[in-house]
Amino acid sequence: MDSIYGDLKPVVVSLLFPPPCGEGWGGGEIFMTHYSGRYSGWVEVVCGPMFSGKTEELIRRLRLVQIAKQRIQIFKPLIDNRYHDTCISSHNDQKFQCTPISDAKQIIDEINDTTRVVGIDEAQFFSDELVDVCEKLANRGIRVIASGLDQDYLGKPFGPMPKLLAIAESVLKLKAVCMVCGESATKTQRLTADTDQVVVGSGECYEARCRACFDPDLTLELSKPAVPVSKKVKTEAFMPR
Ligand code: ADP
Ligand code: MG
Ligand code: ZN
Repeated sequence: MDSIYGDLKPVVVSLLFPPPCGEGWGGGEIFMTHYSGRYSGWVEVVCGPMFSGKTEELIRRLRLVQIAKQRIQIFKPLIDNRYHDTCISSHNDQKFQCTPISDAKQIIDEINDTTRVVGIDEAQFFSDELVDVCEKLANRGIRVIASGLDQDYLGKPFGPMPKLLAIAESVLKLKAVCMVCGESATKTQRLTADTDQVVVGSGECYEARCRACFDPDLTLELSKPAVPVSKKVKTEAFMPR
């Protein structure tokens, strides 16, 4: 009898609660369910440079979750008020309502019992506490989708992202288009001489670059006559160096 129940249980449970299978709901991958009758959550990370479509991809996955009628909560760091205070927003103006928070631990306080999926945008701006928060949520059975910059303007790992990538069940690393040569861009070029790791801005301060065109110290720019980087890049965009 034990073995029969052992076989039947997952089937019965899956009829009551559809399995958290990423394939149908925008994860792009099959995820495991637990045959003990408990369902596990997991962590998905979407990363890449600025303009690579991280927020677009997060929104795409969340829309599919909405279609599946699962409860979602979305968070972003309070610091990211570039476009809209209470929305995550992509560069091509797709939006999703969210809760801005100043500290990753607030996510735990804000979570409702019925929430099945948690989206987090601009994850790089949170502290390392975000990693524990994501683990806790996933251990509670929640699907966590976090998107953020993997590297800062110097090409160094950004905030909690390296740890988040390490503990994630699924990782998608996106590329943008290099604004100098048109190749695949994996880096975020800062166009100003600010040296703080966090300078919130968009196209006026940053652009996507490939490894060959990436100039983190602005040495190529500074060795040339006084032409503003942004102007130079705009006029020479897609011309081989
Ligand atoms: P991210 O969240 O990674 O910064 P978004 O999802 O906000 O990116 O925006 C992606 C969109 O940005 C693209 O679909 C495209 O319309 C636009 N875009 C602007 N510049 C670039 C670029 N250099 N490479 C790719 N997409 C770009
Ligand atoms: Mg974004
Ligand atoms: Zn390039």
